[in-house]
Order: sequence, then structure tokens, then C-alpha cells
Amino acid sequence: MKSLRQMQPAAVVALLLAVLPVWLATSSFRAQLPPEIMFPSAALTRIQRLSDFNPALAGTPGDTDVYVFEGAEPGGSLLVLGGTHATEIAGTMTAVLLVETLDVQTGKVFVVPRANASAATHTMPGEAHPQFITIPTPAGSRRFRYGARYTNPVHQRRDPVVFRHPASPRILQGCEARNLNRVYPGAQDGTLTERVAWAIVELIRLERVDVAFDLHEAPPERNLVNAIVAPEPSQDIAPQATIMLQLAGWDFHLESSSAEFRGLSHREWADATATRPFLMETANPVQGHLRGRTTARLAVTGRDDQYATAARRGLLAMPYDSTGIALETRVSRHLAGIAAIVDLYNGKAPSARIDMGGWPDAGPLQDNGLGRYLGSAVDD
Ligand SMILES: [Zn+2]
Repeated sequence: MKSLRQMQPAAVVALLLAVLPVWLATSSFRAQLPPEIMFPSAALTRIQRLSDFNPALAGTPGDTDVYVFEGAEPGGSLLVLGGTHATEIAGTMTAVLLVETLDVQTGKVFVVPRANASAATHTMPGEAHPQFITIPTPAGSRRFRYGARYTNPVHQRRDPVVFRHPASPRILQGCEARNLNRVYPGAQDGTLTERVAWAIVELIRLERVDVAFDLHEAPPERNLVNAIVAPEPSQDIAPQATIMLQLAGWDFHLESSSAEFRGLSHREWADATATRPFLMETANPVQGHLRGRTTARLAVTGRDDQYATAARRGLLAMPYDSTGIALETRVSRHLAGIAAIVDLYNGKAPSARIDMGGWPDAGPLQDNGLGRYLGSAVDD
């Protein structure tokens, strides 16, 4: 093989031109691999890993941090998952805000901002999604990965031609094998996605989680947007919570978990554990097919002229206008849902209460911006 010195200048240039795009693309892909640095609140008790609940996850890209906050008084147990679908950034950012502001007086709270950690390491092919969003804070900007709906195919290869949940006759496209919210209750030594699902179910079971949230977003044209999805064990709380939230001015509606559509968090958590599961949806125009230019700014502001036009023509499943639906509004909605449901749960289980707070109210959060309440490496 010739050394660079022996090659013709034109061949060297051609080689460099061939290598450069590969190097640039590789650098771009690799930039999305490292997890974000978090700044947990002073109330943090410990950080566990999902692999503590399924050792088969240890050392894999599916392992992720579980932030645990224990109050001074014993009580009930709560789980909040963000990042089941890493495209649905308001779920992740709600969990991040909780990790960095939470204070727990009674009971125990588990927060997992990146439920599918592998899904945060890539973006959806062909969607022009941003790799990151940027949130300004008083001490400088923080960058959060805008990932994909599915586990990274580099981490879980060879999708089946079609995917079928073991307990369901329903046939889905093969890539759904990498969708965390289709493979519950998972399998201890299964695919990477199934191992993550198994670990989450084990966390709920072993920690006797009383109330469990799975936070999502959906395209503004989908009927599921602004829904609380609740299976049977949660139906003693969900209708009243929905009404309370509506009276407080939030556009929520209630959906029941299907008994036939298997593999979803709310369905399988209810069947496999003793928790009350809730899945909540906000709206994110980046996920929708009517959107205009797809940018990180759109993910944060939720402001899109195409969607404003669609709303004027009655094509959307939610109120929407030219002011958009900012990340702060979507995070506030998730927090309002969590607070209302935990409040009603406390009324049902006075001996196993969960008393917590610390996060900003919806008004200040929307006025001041999310970054004002996030931690940073520099004290402000
Ligand atoms: Zn989702």
C-alpha cells in the first residue's frame, strides 16, 4: 500500500474529499451520544440505575439514571418517566425540571428523565428533526438532546419484518420492536428495549410504586393530544382529575386504556403491578405532518404558521393559534396533571401520602422561561 507521500496529489485530494464527509457525519452522530449533565435539587437522596432493577441492562446503552427523592416522613411512592419517546421533549424536560427543583416531604419519588436512553442518541431518519434544543439559563445555555421515537438501530439491530406483541394478535411494523411503549412488560434477557421495559416494571413492583406517570407528546392533529390515558386501577382518580384540570383552565380529556392493544405502559403496568398508571400527552408541532420548517426553535416555541392555518380551518384536535404552544406551557401542563392526580391519590390513601413541591407554578414558568429554574454549573 502506498503512503500519502507516494500518492499523486490529485489522489490525495480525492481521498481527503471522500474521508471528510464521513468524519463530519461521524462527529455529528457521536455528539448525540453523551448524556446531559444534570443538577439535582438539594433534596436528592440518591441516584440509582435502571440496571439495579434488571442487571441484564448493566453496561448497555439502555441503562440510565433513576433519581430518588425520599421525604423525612414515610409515605407512598411515585414514579415519573420522561423520554419514553425522546422526540417528545416536553416529557423529558418535565422530568429534568422535577429532578432539579423537587422537594419531597412525605413518601418517595423516582424520576427517570431518559426512560429510553438509547432513543436519545439518534434522530428519526427523513424527518429533519433537530439533534438538540437549547435552553438559556442565567449562567449560560444548556443543550438537551432531541432524540428519536425508537431505540437506536445501532444498539438493537435486525428489526423483524413485522412486530407482534406476544399477548396480542395485532400486527405492527417491524421497527415497533424498538418502541419502548409497545414492548411492556418486556423481558429480562430480551432485546435492549424489552430489557428496559422489564427494568421499569421491576422498579414499579419492587418499590411498590403507588402512582406512575409516563409523559408523552403528540402531533396537534392527533385526537390523543391533551389526553390522560388511564387503565382500570386509575379510574377512581382519572375522571375527577380531568374535571379539576378543566376547571383550572387546562384542555384535558380522558381516554381509557384498551384491553386489546397490548404492550403500552399504562396497560401493562396495570396488569403486571399494583400501581395506578397514567399516560399524559401534550402537543408538539415538530412531530406533526402539517409542520413547516423543522427547527430546534420550533420544538421550544411550538409556533408554526402552517399549524395556525390548520387550526383556523378546524383541522386540529386542540386549541392552537399563532402564539403556538411553548415548551413551558407543555411542561406546565404535565406538572399540573401530576399535581392534580397526586392530590386526589392522597385523598384516597391518607396513610401512604406523597407530599412534594418545589417546581415553579405555570404562570412564573411561562413568564420567566424554563431556564430560570434549571440548575447550572455556576451559581447565579
Ligand atoms: Zn409518545
